[in-house]
Amino acid sequence: MTTKLTFLGTGTSQGVPIIACQCPVCRSTDLRDKRLRASAYIEYEGLKILVDAGPDFRSQMLAQGVTHLDAILLTHNHKDHTGGLDDVRSFNYIDRKAVEIYCEPRVLKSLQVEYSYAFAEHKYPGAPEWHVHLIDERPFRVDSLENTGDLEWVHDVGYFYRQADGSLVPSDNAVREASREQPNIIPIRGYHDDMPVLGFRFGRIAYITDMSSLPDGELVKLQGLEHVTLNTVGYKKHHSHFSLDEALELAGRIGARYTWLTHLSHAFPRHEQFCAQLREMCLQRGIGSIVQPAHDGLVIEG
Ligand SMILES: [Zn+2]
Ligand SMILES: [Zn+2]
Ligand SMILES: [Zn+2]
Repeated sequence: MTTKLTFLGTGTSQGVPIIACQCPVCRSTDLRDKRLRASAYIEYEGLKILVDAGPDFRSQMLAQGVTHLDAILLTHNHKDHTGGLDDVRSFNYIDRKAVEIYCEPRVLKSLQVEYSYAFAEHKYPGAPEWHVHLIDERPFRVDSLENTGDLEWVHDVGYFYRQADGSLVPSDNAVREASREQPNIIPIRGYHDDMPVLGFRFGRIAYITDMSSLPDGELVKLQGLEHVTLNTVGYKKHHSHFSLDEALELAGRIGARYTWLTHLSHAFPRHEQFCAQLREMCLQRGIGSIVQPAHDGLVIEG
C-alpha cells in the first residue's frame, strides 16, 4: 500500500512571507513562495496522521479539507509545531472523542504548562480534549480508534463519554504509553541544537524537521526510502537547523530517491530560482538523490 504525504506548511517559524518584510521572496507572487508553518498530513495504512499542529493548523485543515484525524504526532515542543493544538476542538465536536496525540514525555510536560486549561480537573466548557500517548525512540503503533461514546459536558464537572448503556465515564486526558505491538511508525532521533526531537518514518517516506544533527546510528532506519524531507533555514551554519550544505550532505548519505527541503526561510531565493540552484549544486557534488524544495500543497507518494 502506498503512503501519501501532503505538505501543509513548509516555512520556518515565522512563515514566508514574514510580517512586514519587503524582500523579493516575501513579495513574490508565486504561490510556492507562500509558506505556512511546517506540518505534514500523511495517509498511511488507512490512517490519517498529522505531524505537528502549529499556529497555521486551522487554515491548513481547511485548505486540505481534512475531515478526520486518527493521530497527531509531535516532533518537539516549539510553538511553530504545537501552537494550533487548541483548534483540535473542531475534531472533538465532529468525532465526539478526544484527539489522539503522540509525543515524548518532555513535550507533554511543556503542553501541561502551555495549555494548563486542557489538563484542568474541572475544565471550562469547550476546552480541547486530548488523549496523550507517550513515545520515545522505539517503533510504535497508531491505530484507527473507534468512538468511545458521545462526548458530553456536565456543567461545572467536566467532559464525560456516554456509553452504549447510558452510563457516563469521565474523559480525563488520560496519558498512556503508545502501543509497541505490531509497530507501524519508526521514530528517528535527532537534535535541534541540544534539544532532542523526533522525525518519523511511514513505510517508504520519512519526515524529518527541526534538526541540526542526526546521529550516524539513525541512518540505518532511513535505508531504502523513496522520499525523505530535511529541514534547512539558510546557507549559513545555524545552531538549531541544518545549513543547506549540511542538508545536501545528509541527503547524499541517506540516499533516498527524492529529498524534499522544508522549514524554509526567505534566505533562499524564489522557488524557480532555488530549484535551478539545487539541481546545479547536486550535479556539482555528485549527490545521487534528487533534492528539491517542497512547497505548501505538494503531494508525494511512495
Ligand atoms: Zn520549527
Ligand atoms: Zn523577506
Ligand atoms: Zn523547533
